[in-house]
Amino acid sequence: MLKVKHVIVCGHYGCSGVQAALGGKRIGLSDNWLRHVSGCARKTLNPCWREFRTGPSRLAKLCELNVIEQVVNVAQTTIMREARERGQELTVHGWIYGLKDGFLP
Ligand SMILES: [Zn+2]
Repeated sequence: MLKVKHVIVCGHYGCSGVQAALGGKRIGLSDNWLRHVSGCARKTLNPCWREFRTGPSRLAKLCELNVIEQVVNVAQTTIMREARERGQELTVHGWIYGLKDGFLP
């Protein structure tokens, strides 16, 4: 209705929500959006993800993967589908923010 043209999904490195999901902890409402994180973690078991299996780089990579998953989730909502069916110009962007340095790669 508002003719929004861009939707930005912005995650951040060091996300405690992603970390909690990895540890199987429930944190409330965000659980609905984070339930795909464990699926992301499984993807990192692929041999080409070897360097990201442990340590801080794993969490960073999972934060990035989570943004990608959430972009897909947003793109599949009925709101987005109906907008596309109306021919509305609409793009979903995935961003990730560095809390330590303010960098937005
Ligand atoms: Zn977070």
